[in-house]
Amino acid sequence: MPALLQPLHAEVLRRNPGEPEFHQALGEVLETLEPVLTARPELLEARLLERIVEPERQIIFRVPWQDDQGRIHVNRGMRVEFNSALGPYKGGLRFHPSVNLGIVKFLGFEQIFKNALTGLGIGGGKGGSDFDPRGRSDAEVMRFCQSFMTELHRHLGEHTDVPAGDIGVGGREIGYLFGQYRRITNRWEAGVLTGKGLGWGGSLARAEATGYGNVLFAAEMLKTRGADLAGQRVTVSGSGNVALYSIQKAQALGAHAVTASDSAGYVVDEKGIDLELLQQIKEVERGRVSDYAERRGPSARYVPGGSVWDVPTDVALPSATQNELDADAARTLVRNGVKAVSEGANMPTTPEAVRVLREAGVLFGPGKAANAGGVATSALEMQQNAGREAWSFSEVEDRLAFIMRDIHATVRDTAERYGAPGDYVLGANIAGFERVADAMNAQGLI
Ligand code: NDP
Repeated sequence: MPALLQPLHAEVLRRNPGEPEFHQALGEVLETLEPVLTARPELLEARLLERIVEPERQIIFRVPWQDDQGRIHVNRGMRVEFNSALGPYKGGLRFHPSVNLGIVKFLGFEQIFKNALTGLGIGGGKGGSDFDPRGRSDAEVMRFCQSFMTELHRHLGEHTDVPAGDIGVGGREIGYLFGQYRRITNRWEAGVLTGKGLGWGGSLARAEATGYGNVLFAAEMLKTRGADLAGQRVTVSGSGNVALYSIQKAQALGAHAVTASDSAGYVVDEKGIDLELLQQIKEVERGRVSDYAERRGPSARYVPGGSVWDVPTDVALPSATQNELDADAARTLVRNGVKAVSEGANMPTTPEAVRVLREAGVLFGPGKAANAGGVATSALEMQQNAGREAWSFSEVEDRLAFIMRDIHATVRDTAERYGAPGDYVLGANIAGFERVADAMNAQGLI
């Protein structure tokens, strides 16, 4: 940690005890900001960082609901409205038993800078619950979503706070949440949630956007070294929304995507992942990657409990969850000749692993930049809702591709401008920080 920022870092840790993921996300940003604060002392003077690290508002609430047997459960709901200098709070909802305030704050903090990088006028926020949708019936998930929205609705609005999906929150959950919002408010306010169904305000290519965007970002990084994604071997972790569409885009661009995983294990398919089969198992049957291996035949091998990063690859796309790629995994990837790692998930690579990769000269795309295509396309969904329009798939995808190239160029140029060519972490943090800090500075003491 640069000496200049040590007191602030210590103070934030002291005031936010027991939140290791937030501390990690914060440390990763603070470590890179010294060059901009030295070059622009007015930002230091205005104590912008001290303000940015404190959420504008944090909401924590009780979510009581009844299961199919009539038993009563109580979960905790949260929404952290972190920063609205650039636009309404925007960021997903996560339903997973691991969710706590520190995790929501880490995600919300990352979201501020990510959303700034899109250039689309969206602030940063995140929310969720420790509810576990796995193994629950549709009716149970609906009752939970209705109870969750019964409190959350009073904090939302298309110009105030606009949630979307994340882990455990997909199209089904967004549908139940939107229905309850509409019922309580008696308003057709399509722009209050993104990731909606296509027949009722959703955008084509939103489901695909995070994975597609990450693959495009990886391709842009490879280009800076004169390499092409086509023909490369790609490994992907996870088998949810981000993972599935990363595999699809990688294959469409001529790469060979050979893995998928879940919290129980991973599958390697030397013939390349059969996406149709995996989608059927994950999205329709809500099954596991072990089912894929069983049904696919001899080309697929299932490894229970192992690390997908043991599989040799040219390009690794971690797309499951935070801290899933540690220093040992990074060393294995380097030994096996990895050329690029691009984060589809939020903070999947530990700080030590990032160091290992950077020291070995591996291209590294941080999630703030690399997976920003999802939220960018959510902003495009909001634009369509505001104009009561529905754009074609190719129109949305073209805009997404333009945005990803623009983010890549901004991050690369910022890193160069601040004397760290090729450092996408520094470039993303500084470029995002400058946009938010400049807006806050112009808006008075907020
Ligand atoms: P999904 O719920 O669709 O899928 C999550 C996948 O990750 C599942 O395969 C799940 O396996 C696995 N996973 C989740 N938690 C763990 C864990 N603790 N250990 C191992 N595997 C785990 O989520 P998304 O695909 O939407 O999100 C994945 C990541 O991408 C998250 O970090 C999210 O924040 C990030 N992201 C998502 C965006 C989006 O548009 N959806 C946008 C930007 C970032 P299992 O079923 O076994 O739990």
